[in-house]
Amino acid sequence: MDDRQFRTAMGKFATGVTVIATDLDGDVHGMTANAFMSVSLDPKLVVISIGEKARILEKIKQSKTFSVNILAADQQELSMIFAGQLKEHREVEFDRLDGKPVLKGAVAQIACEVSAEHLEGDHTLFIGRVTDIHLEDAEPLVFYSGKYRALVEEKAVTV
Ligand code: FAD
Ligand code: NAD
Repeated sequence: MDDRQFRTAMGKFATGVTVIATDLDGDVHGMTANAFMSVSLDPKLVVISIGEKARILEKIKQSKTFSVNILAADQQELSMIFAGQLKEHREVEFDRLDGKPVLKGAVAQIACEVSAEHLEGDHTLFIGRVTDIHLEDAEPLVFYSGKYRALVEEKAVTV
């Protein structure tokens, strides 16, 4: 199986889009990520998966904290900024939630402290203990088959 086939298959799983952010000695760094999952309700845990070449990897290892910002439908540009897909540098302002840097206007801001990390293949999984949450009433940005999408509400199935 080649890499393209794997990525094409994984891209068939429609996801939201997040920006993971961390603060190391006052320097805020963000990265676009869709490898995010809820793990446990009691205690409240989430997981993110960070590639070995990502600059944010060492920063999270050292800061031991991160935020997950679930992007709104109108935040595609932020996704592109933090995926390194825009050529010029853009200044992005961060708010704070429980001391962690978070993005204004995100559908959900989730503040986390690293409770465990696991090296798996070429990625590191960080388990985050959720310390605070802020929610906004907005539609989410969707990522499917390598493209940004918007949600369409289906009619409820009647049985
Ligand atoms: P850099 O390349 O250092 O930073 C990324 C960009 O963010 C740079 O352009 C930088 O200028 C900008 N930036 C960072 N901090 C700030 C700041 N404070 N203010 C303004 N700009 C800033 N990779 C994964 O490992 N896991 C995933 O789950 C994942 N999911 C992805 C989902 C999508 C939809 C996309 C498009 C990409 C995904 N990636 C994922 C790839 C990842 O986003 C890129 O490889 C990323 O560029 C690597 O991040 P880095 O830490 O090396 O950051
Ligand atoms: P793509 O076709 O490369 O990705 C489709 C799906 O494949 C992604 O949603 C993800 O589930 C999986 N995937 C892609 N690259 C991966 C990697 N290096 N490790 C593990 N899973 C991976 O979509 P695209 O629009 O071309 O992506 C833009 C860029 O962002 C690419 O360079 C891609 O590698 C990167 N990306 C990385 C991850 C990740 O590291 N988990 C996730 C999504 C996108």
